Amino acid sequence: MTFLTISRLEKSFGANRVVKDFNLEVEKGEFISLLGPSGCGKTTVLRMVAGFELPSAGRITIAGKDVSRLRPNHRNIGMVFQAYALFPNLTVAQNVGFGLKVKGAPAREIAARVAEMLALIGLPEMGERYPYQLSGGQQQRVALARALAPKPQVLLLDEPLSALDAKVRVSLRNEIRAIQRELGITTIFVTHDQEEALSMSDRIVVMHQGVADQVGTPFDIYNRPATRFVAGFVGTLNTLTAQVIDPASGHVRVGGSDLVLGRALPGGEVVLGLRPEMLRLGAEPGMASLTGTITELDFLGSVIRLRLDLGDQRLAVDLFNTTRATPPRVGDSVTLALDPADALVIGA
Ligand code: ATP
Repeated sequence: MTFLTISRLEKSFGANRVVKDFNLEVEKGEFISLLGPSGCGKTTVLRMVAGFELPSAGRITIAGKDVSRLRPNHRNIGMVFQAYALFPNLTVAQNVGFGLKVKGAPAREIAARVAEMLALIGLPEMGERYPYQLSGGQQQRVALARALAPKPQVLLLDEPLSALDAKVRVSLRNEIRAIQRELGITTIFVTHDQEEALSMSDRIVVMHQGVADQVGTPFDIYNRPATRFVAGFVGTLNTLTAQVIDPASGHVRVGGSDLVLGRALPGGEVVLGLRPEMLRLGAEPGMASLTGTITELDFLGSVIRLRLDLGDQRLAVDLFNTTRATPPRVGDSVTLALDPADALVIGA
């Protein structure tokens, strides 16, 4: 059953329409990411769900109840922000217990819940510390515990990892997801980091200029992008112009190579999107092939990144490193195999 629904949501600041006809249905316990570039409106959507902004139009319901016009403290929502928003003059335990204290919960109940939350975030001994005595990652875990302590119906995370260094970010990513799963709490996570969105989410909403371009699983968003924007924003994509030789069979010519995509295409020219990791060195039976000359080669350890000249176009290719094959060299003329089903047609 749909737990949280956002329908026809709109937000304008003056003449600036920053959220346009935004629709989303979230299942109970789902982890949803709003992913998009800076300024696309993802924070504004989150702030409307939280109640910090009122919609210009549209409706938000949680557990069947219209909350669109409720104050934030009446929505039963927990929120974690990008910057550490802990109260600096309160201890960790007081921070975590804050929401319950405001609600007038008895001291014994607060203490028990605080202990439970500190254990959940892996900081059971840190209740008496002050925020300045914690690392950035620890502070964000405390912020998470504070948001979860009052048992909210929905957890909202506004780029909670972006101020942390890379290593902490990855470990906290996994921790947040594990805690979210354990509690089964419905979560909306705002990020501009595609790797975060791909690795953490049940589903991703890719936003672009106030519009949800695509809603789908990480697998779908990456492998079956619905728009050219999604294809280019999530992952690396080569875009190649191809001349259509036979629209019915999808026979195209790209930089001197002939590919048969096996699906109908419009006539004239199309734009193909090829992910670098979808090409392999050498011809393969049943596969399409492209030929070109290697102009650059970066050995990155697990991956060998090539740049190829296809005549009139360039192509980036990622090969898996293997000790069994001799790596190619700059200047080599090579053939690459491609499953025609992997080629995206992203424009005509
Ligand atoms: P970022 O990742 O940079 O935060 P975002 O996708 O979250 O980007 P929003 O913060 O939602 O984007 O902002 C969307 C647009 O709305 C931006 O153009 C921003 O300048 C504008 N905006 C946001 N809040 C206000 C406000 N209170 N008054 C006027 N304009 C605003």
